[in-house]
Amino acid sequence: MKALLIGESRKGKTLGSTYELAEFAKRMEAQSAMFIVDAEEDLPKYEGKLYLASAADCGELNPPVHAAMAVEAADKENADIVILSHSPYGWDLAPLIARALGAGQVSEVVEYQEGAFITPALNGKMRLFYKPSTARVVVTVQSGAFAPAAPPSGAPTVEKIAAPAAGDGVYEFVEFEEPEETGVALGKAKVVVSAGRGVGKVENIELVKKLAEALDGELGASRPVVDAGWVENGRQVGTSGKTVAPKLYVACGISGAAQHIAGMKGSEFIVAINTDPEAPITEVAHVTAQVDLKQLIPALLEKLKG
Ligand SMILES: Cc1cc2nc3c(=O)[nH]c(=O)nc-3n(C[C@H](O)[C@H](O)[C@H](O)COP(=O)(O)OP(=O)(O)OC[C@H]3O[C@@H](n4cnc5c(N)ncnc54)[C@H](O)[C@@H]3O)c2cc1C
Repeated sequence: MKALLIGESRKGKTLGSTYELAEFAKRMEAQSAMFIVDAEEDLPKYEGKLYLASAADCGELNPPVHAAMAVEAADKENADIVILSHSPYGWDLAPLIARALGAGQVSEVVEYQEGAFITPALNGKMRLFYKPSTARVVVTVQSGAFAPAAPPSGAPTVEKIAAPAAGDGVYEFVEFEEPEETGVALGKAKVVVSAGRGVGKVENIELVKKLAEALDGELGASRPVVDAGWVENGRQVGTSGKTVAPKLYVACGISGAAQHIAGMKGSEFIVAINTDPEAPITEVAHVTAQVDLKQLIPALLEKLKG
């Protein structure tokens, strides 16, 4: 099987998620080549063929143009599968590439087993198995699901791809805007105590916050809690929030969706407080307290007094 990986770069730097694509191809036992729009000074560390398009020539973000060049690379490689990150860039490109190749598309793949692409459903409570019936397939893979076993290495063999002639310019890339700095030092905290939807209501955030303070740590949160406006943006842990690796991570009422796990699985010791013994968080937790957080946290605070 032949795979084409679609790497990603931002401001001339290869994103770490690019190396997860290579790991995924390895798991599929596919022979891979890579396509990337990048600055020539910062090529990905990669052992193999790299189709390189110049970001200066075609823009850092221009989905139709990038997709057209990726299709050219896929055809040159005769790729059976095109693999992208499950990221805003991947979401833009994957359907354009799939349509051009007449390929089936599977989004948010978290595992590959015996020819089936597996994706989560119902907040990670179920898994869907897809076996595409098309000759070629385009997949996006979930961040954190295929972390490389070893640091990336190697120098690629570069073949340049020229930007297609004008005519596809339906997008004009303006700039990347960095999120507002909130001053929350989540990434440096030794202890992070995070609140999930299981807290039930905004008033209960205070309980989780008190536990974080009692443990000399920082308050974190899952995305629904941030989306609800219960906790500020800068405290979100996960693929679309911060990545943390504290000595102690306490997940209070968090199910453990792949997007959350990707942001905290590097923690040294993980404690889950969850009423559901089968919640996915229990698979990464070193200790699970199967109990209502509204009962356990006040008791813990009492014990921690003094
Ligand atoms: C593109 C994309 C990016 C995303 N990025 C992120 C991200 O960065 N971070 C993130 O967190 N999510 C992210 N998500 C959302 C993610 O998929 C999940 O929906 C989310 O993590 C679920 O949050 P949760 O665990 O708090 O809620 P739920 O999945 O609803 O889980 C609540 C948990 O609380 C438990 N519970 C309920 N009551 C109690 C109680 N009284 N005591 C103890 N336990 C209780 C339940 O058993 C359940 O396990 C993203 C999703 C997408 C599509």
